[in-house]
Amino acid sequence: MKKQLVAFVCSVLCCTAGLAQYAEVYPSNWWVGMKWNKVQLMLYNDYDEFNQETVRITYPGVKIEKVHKVENGSYIFVDVSIAATAKPGNVSIELISGGKAHVVSWPLKSRTPGKGTTFAQGINSSDFIYLLMPDRFSNGDPSNDRIEGMKDQTLDRDSIYHRHGGDFAGIINHLDYLKDLGVTALWMTPVIENDMPERTEHGYAFTNHYKIEPRFGGAKMYKMLGQELHKRGMKLVQDAVYNHVGVHHFTVTDPPMKDWLHQWPSFTQTTYKDQPLYDPYAAEVDKRKMLDGWFTRHMPDLNQDNPFVANYLIQHALWCVEEFGVDGWRIDTYPYNDLDFMNRCNKALMDEYPKMTMFGETWVHGVAAQAYFTRNKTNTAFKSNLPSVTDFQTNLYGIIPALTEKFGWTEGVNKLYSTLAGDYLYENPMNNVNFLDNHDKSRIYSVVNEDLDKQKMGIGWLLTTRGIPQMYYGTEVLMKGHTNPDGWVRLDFPGGWKGDSKSAFTKDGLDDREIEAQEWTKKIANYRKSSSAIKTGKLMQYVPDDGLYVYFRYDGKQTVMCIMNTSDKAKTVEFSKYPEMTKGIKSVKNITGEQPTEGDSFLVEPKQMMILELVK
Ligand code: CA
Repeated sequence: MKKQLVAFVCSVLCCTAGLAQYAEVYPSNWWVGMKWNKVQLMLYNDYDEFNQETVRITYPGVKIEKVHKVENGSYIFVDVSIAATAKPGNVSIELISGGKAHVVSWPLKSRTPGKGTTFAQGINSSDFIYLLMPDRFSNGDPSNDRIEGMKDQTLDRDSIYHRHGGDFAGIINHLDYLKDLGVTALWMTPVIENDMPERTEHGYAFTNHYKIEPRFGGAKMYKMLGQELHKRGMKLVQDAVYNHVGVHHFTVTDPPMKDWLHQWPSFTQTTYKDQPLYDPYAAEVDKRKMLDGWFTRHMPDLNQDNPFVANYLIQHALWCVEEFGVDGWRIDTYPYNDLDFMNRCNKALMDEYPKMTMFGETWVHGVAAQAYFTRNKTNTAFKSNLPSVTDFQTNLYGIIPALTEKFGWTEGVNKLYSTLAGDYLYENPMNNVNFLDNHDKSRIYSVVNEDLDKQKMGIGWLLTTRGIPQMYYGTEVLMKGHTNPDGWVRLDFPGGWKGDSKSAFTKDGLDDREIEAQEWTKKIANYRKSSSAIKTGKLMQYVPDDGLYVYFRYDGKQTVMCIMNTSDKAKTVEFSKYPEMTKGIKSVKNITGEQPTEGDSFLVEPKQMMILELVK
């Protein structure tokens, strides 16, 4: 009784004050003219029970197909279909009980113009992605650093796990810096609300899918960031998490039904072992633990077999792209998801946005393992439709050993060479996203023991090998740090806060080495922008010779020769050793050095990388 009185009072007050509605509706709005025109609405009302109510919509072109009453009376699911003839406007959803109707308003908007041209453009090998953590890049608006009522009230830049105040406004202020650096696409760790009590800096524990993190500036500023990127010809990548949510998500604290989450008799963590998913000798129990175990105690596992969960997640993905003008989609913890669900979800996005691309995080071991999760040329029973993956193989078994191991039959740069040879398994390896480091990995400058030459070689490789390069914020100015704990690889970008003693944006306070790395990145990334061979051409690699690794990027118009001398001795490079690629050269443009290379052979110093455009 009391509950109902509160509900009544609230509905009256809220309607008159224009505040929260009688029930929340997810997705919070939709559009006319979407391919996905059968929408499953989740209505949630934590102070009343829907079991008594009937639902009515009288809006031209919007029809209720089915109403689902579920175990928890605080939820009701309503399937609606939206006819092509429906007009944009506010749909009134009436919830009728005992002759009384509560009305919930659900906006139906006209579609965002520019699909495929100014948003949902897809990310491809012509792009250069910059990954940053919004809390750690730049604080453009100190008024949103702490939000009253949110559980994490920390604000302490001296702690690696407390909030630091970075936000969308700070990023917008520095988009020109990124553009000058040669970046074409921005990927941020998740921007969805994480109203968790602690460790909220990473963003992977969503608590309300339809709320953009207010400490970053909320939906309004997120939309503005997308617009500011597009104004500069840059793209927006959103980080999506389907596998789990934060333990404080309302669907966890008050689940719609018993099997909304994967439940275990006692807490069971995922094994983090992807092998059982494709291993011909796997035990079923290992597969179940991998897929259905919880990511951590604070991140429960969503049951994507449950069609209500699946719809909730798919619709959220579509909603984000249309609402915020997203161009590319990064999918967290890809192998932990139900893979049939992932195929459905990817398909829904690609059906709605044909140019849209997505790349999944595949922190797995071996090309064969990684290929399983993306489009490939193998004959496994399960076929993934995922266009692209974060290439952990060219990282773990590629560039890292190339820069840190002594050359050997299977060691050093031979590993990079061998890993790339495995590309025959992928349908299109040009879609793979390469990286030197990210928010979960030790920073490359620390991995190479703060050796500037090796850092430059890594960056040179990243920007010229096949695929899509992704740089982690600060790698261009030698930010360092080892994981364990991972907070040390998530430090503040220099110059992002008022009063910082040095600034990567203005170069104030940067030392010579930091400036050298930054200029090197800028030079190659901007050259890349103009090079068809690097952006879309083919790759030919030659068998490494005592630490000297030579590869070419080429197409009908251009040939680019990339030379990595990973050894500690100077090496002589002879053009005649690579006749297929060097035949008929008239001149050479040295992209990385000041002097043009003359003659038929030349010397490459230890730990040096050279990029030459061969003019034929
Ligand atoms: Ca702020």
